[in-house]
This record gives sequence, C-alpha cells and structure tokens, in this order.
Amino acid sequence: MASDVCSHVKVVVRVRPINEKEKQENCRNVVQVVDNHMLIFDPKELDTSCFGSQRVRNRNVNKKANKDLKFVFDHVFGENSTQVEIFESTTKGILDGLMNGYNCTVFAYGATGAGKTHTMLGSPNDPGVMYRTMTELFSRMDEAKEEKEFAVAFSYLEVYNEQIRDLLANAGPLAVREDSSKGVVVQGLTLHQPKSAEHILEALDSGNRNRTQHPTEMNATSSRSHAVFQIYLRQQDKTASLNPNACVAKMSLIDLAGSERASATNAKGARLREGANINRSLLALGNVINALADPKSKKTHIPYRDSKLTRLLKDSLGGNCRTVMIANVSPSSKSYDDTHNALKYANRAKEIKSSLKSNVVSLNSHIGHIICRSLTEYLNCRPT
Ligand code: ADP
Ligand code: MG
Repeated sequence: MASDVCSHVKVVVRVRPINEKEKQENCRNVVQVVDNHMLIFDPKELDTSCFGSQRVRNRNVNKKANKDLKFVFDHVFGENSTQVEIFESTTKGILDGLMNGYNCTVFAYGATGAGKTHTMLGSPNDPGVMYRTMTELFSRMDEAKEEKEFAVAFSYLEVYNEQIRDLLANAGPLAVREDSSKGVVVQGLTLHQPKSAEHILEALDSGNRNRTQHPTEMNATSSRSHAVFQIYLRQQDKTASLNPNACVAKMSLIDLAGSERASATNAKGARLREGANINRSLLALGNVINALADPKSKKTHIPYRDSKLTRLLKDSLGGNCRTVMIANVSPSSKSYDDTHNALKYANRAKEIKSSLKSNVVSLNSHIGHIICRSLTEYLNCRPT
C-alpha cells in the first residue's frame, strides 16, 4: 500500500471552441491561452492569427479597460485540445491512487454550455473521461492479474435539489450514511458489474437520459443536477492465505450542475429554488476544498454537512485522496461573468497544493482494509 500520496488538488482549465452562434453574434474572445499553464482573461490585446480569419481583433466594445488578468494552473487546455489529452493529464495519473487503495475524485466545474458533459461523458465517437478511465482501469487490472484478484463495479447517481437519485434504477430519494470503516455509503444505490467498456458507455448514456434537465435562459437542456459516476475497486492479494485483507477504494467522476448564478438566469419559482440549491452546493464544495487547504483547519471544522454533495464526497476529498478539478470555460464575451467566476473558483481550489505540501492531512477512514466477500456486501448496495 502506498503511503506517500500527498493531498493535492490538481486544477486544469479547458477552454471550449467558440461556437457558430457566438461567431454569428460577433462575440469577442475573452480568453487567451498563453501556454500549457497560463491564460489571460479579458486580455488587452489579442493576437488574432491563432483564431482564424473570421475573428475580429479583440476590442472591448464598451470601451471599459480590459481586466487583463493572468491565471496560472496545473494545465491549461485550449480550444483544440482532445479528449485523450484531457484524460491523460487528469484521471490517468490518479488511477495509480485508486490501484493503491485511495479514493480519488475528478470533477468538472463550469457554467452551462462550458463543456462539462463533453469533457466527462463525451459522445460515442469521442468518449470523455468517464469511459476512458474505465478502459484504462481494465487494462491496468489485466496487467496486475497475476498478483491480485480484482472486482470492479460502478454506480451512477444525481444530486438534485439536495436529494440523491439513482440514475440507473427507478427508485425514490436515497439516504447517505457514514460508516466508520466503510466511509460514505448511499443506501439502496444499485451497483453494476461492467461486462465490457461498451456496457459502461450504454449505462452512462441511459443514466444521462434520466438526469434532471430543465431549460434555462442559457441552454435548452441545461443539467440542473450534479451527476456522480463512481467506480469501486476491490482488490486482494493472491497470497490471501497469508494476508486475507481486501482493500476497497472508489473513484468519483462528477459532472457538476451549471455554476451560473441563479439570479443571472432570470429564474423564477422552482427554477430559482433549483438554482439556489446548485449555488449553495457549489459554494459548500468550494468551502470544503478551501477548509482542507487551510493548515489550521486540521483542528477546526470542515463543513461537509453543508450540502448533500459534500456529505457524499466526505471520504473522497482531502486527506490522502487525490482530486482533480477540470474548470470548463467558454471563451466568448457572452459568458464573460461565468468564465471570470469559474476561473476565480478554480484559482482558489488550486491553492490547496502549496499549503498542504509539507502538511499532509491524515484521514485514514477512506482506506478500506476490510475483510469482505463481495463489493455489494461491503457497500450495502443492490447488485443488478
Ligand atoms: P455543459 O455540460 O457544461 O453544459 P456541454 O458539454 O453540453 O456543456 O457543451 C456545450 C456544447 O459545446 C455541446 O454541443 C458540446 O458538444 C460543445 N463542446 C463543449 N466543449 C467542447 C470542446 N472542447 N470541443 C468541441 N465541442 C465542445
Ligand atoms: Mg452538461
């Protein structure tokens, strides 16, 4: 079991291409990718040569001074980045953690239309991080099959209006409980044993059709829930007679609900309540990440209980977990505030790394050294 995994939030930003509608509306480009680590938000002057002949020189039409803010991240991906590149610099690295018994989390943050679902789910022709992670996991299990016995399963749920729903089964809201040895357990959630990588794609696709979506002013099919895909890996040394302990770890891959402010979407009634819940849980997630980053907070309170999402992720953030945040942003002036807010959120999240460098928080409860016969027995989930 590796013991040297340091607490670390890797923060990457992915800028999506400008779309046809934005081109037609002559939106200006407000994000300039400088290199693999730096971007400028609302640059003073933009070299248009890399944006094609249709784009006009970057001018601030309101004649206000441009913000010209430089942001540095673990990685910045421009509009031409591929799904493979994103996968390789995000989940691929933290799969080692999962294989070593540590919980891991990857989440896509950003406003509606910024590219979260494209990044996490993708399309059958160009699958995203969720599918590629599973495929890579299969190949790693295959490589290690002489030494270890593996069982793998997945679940897919959504958190909508502070309620948890199984996206792969028809059931009412599910309760989360905490177990001192097993960590966080969602009672009654169905657990699926993947038969093949294609099976996962089908399950994700059908789960996504069950996802709560409502039209907002920003998007006709805006995802109003946080979609949480979880992969559970149980492994046991083949010399089990000497060491019968099996280890269970999970990886959570999360397509968060749109981060746009509820008030900015002209929402009313149920939509406003929905938006307020989304904003609250994203704020709670940010607060947990920042509390974990604060060396003093080791002794103080980490506000996991402030939202369902953070309660669900209590054993999957901080501590020795590995976390990757993918902030998705649009380059268009139409999304000026959303992009600025997403970059600020991502910028705060990344500060965890430096403050925890020499101060690794030790929360061992997420490492499941448990003797158990099966994953379902361990997780109290319903097998399908
Ligand atoms: P979100 O889930 O954040 O609301 P989507 O992933 O649905 O946003 O993206 C909105 C639209 O932009 C979709 O049509 C999607 O295919 C397209 N898109 C997003 N990111 C990219 C990208 N990196 N490259 C090409 N198209 C993208
Ligand atoms: Mg989406």
